[in-house]
Amino acid sequence: MENNQHAYRNLDLCTKDCLCLFVCPVGAADTENGQIDFEKCIGCGACSKACPSHAITMIPNKMPPQQKKAKEVINTLFKVANIKIDEIKTLEYLTENSTDDVEKHFFKTLIHSNKVMVEDIMREAGYMLPQSRNTNKLLNNLLEKDENNKEIITQLLKKLEVNE
Ligand code: SF4
Ligand code: SF4
Repeated sequence: MENNQHAYRNLDLCTKDCLCLFVCPVGAADTENGQIDFEKCIGCGACSKACPSHAITMIPNKMPPQQKKAKEVINTLFKVANIKIDEIKTLEYLTENSTDDVEKHFFKTLIHSNKVMVEDIMREAGYMLPQSRNTNKLLNNLLEKDENNKEIITQLLKKLEVNE
């Protein structure tokens, strides 16, 4: 079987019932850090089918090309993202100044959901896709500025080939 995908385990969803360990033909699901061993994984998908918690996703080794977006669409997405970012700032201010625990909790939930929306919008606008040129530029900028994470950024740049 051609290895054109590999398994990824979401540790937040994993309930550790170990079915994946039993079905994996190469022992790639049994690791010290809880992640799938990409070097061993042959991409058969057995673990993903067996997992009752939907904690394992099969990820293609090569990402599809990013969709092209019209300038008008990108600009509109940026506008919506900026509205959401303003909302987040207002909610952060309200959270800091609230004395009511329930209200604080409610504001924090709204902040979280707004952040998730901004991430989705930016992805749609062509940012944050691992294979996009924008991500490549972002990582190269970080490489210059972030002294502490140079090694991991260099590794990411090697793995994330631009395919636009
Ligand atoms: S089968 Fe799913 S829930 Fe069970 S250990 Fe594996 S990943 Fe975790
Ligand atoms: S995809 Fe197959 S080889 Fe890879 S971890 Fe899952 S069961 Fe093991």
